Amino acid sequence: MYTIKGKTGDWELVIGLETHIEVTSNSKLFSGASADYNPSVPANTQASFVDAAMPGMLPVLNEYCVEQAIRMGLGLNAEISKRSKFARKQYFYPDLPQGYQISQPAEEPPIVGRGWVEITDDDGNPKKILIERAHLEQDAGKLKHDAHPTKSMADYNRTGVALLEIVTFLDTKNPENNSYITSPDEAEKYLRQIREIARSLGVSNANMEEGSMRADVNVSVRRVGAAEFGTRTETKNMVSFKFIKTAIEYEARRQIEIIENGGTVSQDTMHYNQDSGTTTVMRSKEDALDYRYFPDPDLLPLIIEDDLIERIRATLPELPSVRRARYMSELGLSEYDAARLTESVQISNWFESAVGDKLVRAKPIANWMISELFAHPENFVLDESIQRDESIRIIAPSDLAELVDMISENEINGKMAKDIFVKMLDGETGSPKQIADKFGLKQMSDTGAIVSAVDDVIAKNASQVEQYKSGKVGLIGFFVGQVMKATGGAANPEVVNKILKEKLG
Ligand code: ADP
Ligand code: MG
Repeated sequence: MYTIKGKTGDWELVIGLETHIEVTSNSKLFSGASADYNPSVPANTQASFVDAAMPGMLPVLNEYCVEQAIRMGLGLNAEISKRSKFARKQYFYPDLPQGYQISQPAEEPPIVGRGWVEITDDDGNPKKILIERAHLEQDAGKLKHDAHPTKSMADYNRTGVALLEIVTFLDTKNPENNSYITSPDEAEKYLRQIREIARSLGVSNANMEEGSMRADVNVSVRRVGAAEFGTRTETKNMVSFKFIKTAIEYEARRQIEIIENGGTVSQDTMHYNQDSGTTTVMRSKEDALDYRYFPDPDLLPLIIEDDLIERIRATLPELPSVRRARYMSELGLSEYDAARLTESVQISNWFESAVGDKLVRAKPIANWMISELFAHPENFVLDESIQRDESIRIIAPSDLAELVDMISENEINGKMAKDIFVKMLDGETGSPKQIADKFGLKQMSDTGAIVSAVDDVIAKNASQVEQYKSGKVGLIGFFVGQVMKATGGAANPEVVNKILKEKLG
């Protein structure tokens, strides 16, 4: 378990995350304006009268966003509420012209109820992180304070875009239920898992750099083994895995120091300072806003029929967690390999297409992908958005399958395969077989030729032979190397090894 050493003993962490993901949809949660507000779109060209809160405009719930929330809910193994409500969360700030945000308050059932995601904990064991809820709400617009010398500008293109807020659960009634996040690394793994699920379901791009995934980070500390949870603080609006981990650790140490110096932690909202990696109080609980939630009279309760849930369930692709388990059980991959190959749907699809129906290829393909292809993203079409030169050769799943088969059929050895691979990276055209032919890369299958090369090497290295026979068996590598050299790298090293051992006795 992750602990932090204080002056007076060891401390454990309790972490709760509120993750906002932007829902992929053509239009906004309650208006018909485009939800694709990317920075190249001129300001306020995608704000409808509803988003601008013109008098008399009525919100109309976007059914597709509801389906997206249900889809994510199913991905989080969660209950979907048959009946949920929208309410107005009052706050007056120029980024939201309505003067309130339409959301689903904690007191009311949210569209998505209790669920879980699985991560691996710091010891490598699987761990369930419980989800308390996920609810739909509106995003706010963007303010620009540097576009004009004396005025602030408001861009409402993002105003009203659907967000799904996913909140982790802390079972305060049963503190022995430790299905919550307890370390900075677990927080990152949890967020990556949320991202993976959202992407594979097409619910959100969940891209922290682009702001389509943001997290509020709640942290408290308690002495190892303490029964009660400590008082938490909440650091708002975090948009990088690295910052989140730094903020958690800094915040935990700050709280530990306060308690060890006889103070008490107050339930504050913190701001993270990127440059210093520190947190500072943004507002204290006493200044907490009273949002005065009240039901939105313009929106009826949201009723979801079983039919709709089942229809959506039937369209779900295989979830990353299911895929990962299948890679381990059916294909015999390690947990690490399975995790790497399920980082995105594109990677999984590429991998499965390379394996095809020859399951014995799975392990070598996994090795090649993880150790070679991942290092050359430009040769590996997973991300269509990467700009590529015409001359770049894109390695296809069938290329790698052919290469792996050539090794297993002893046509080439590993070294030759690597040569062929490098040639492909350098833009050589043709299939791996054609490249092998062109460059004369062929493994020596004639055992007679290998035997005579071995005899030759043994005859020329009498003193090493003597040392080997007197127990220095590590010299086998030297002999293999000599034979490989003598055969111009064409011999099969395994066969060489076998013949050498027979001859050297
Ligand atoms: P709020 O709406 O005030 O932000 P919530 O009750 O929704 O509060 O909790 C927000 C998050 O904080 C949840 O993920 C919850 O699990 C977490 N949390 C609650 N209590 C603690 C605590 N003592 N330490 C750490 N996290 C906590
Ligand atoms: Mg909160």
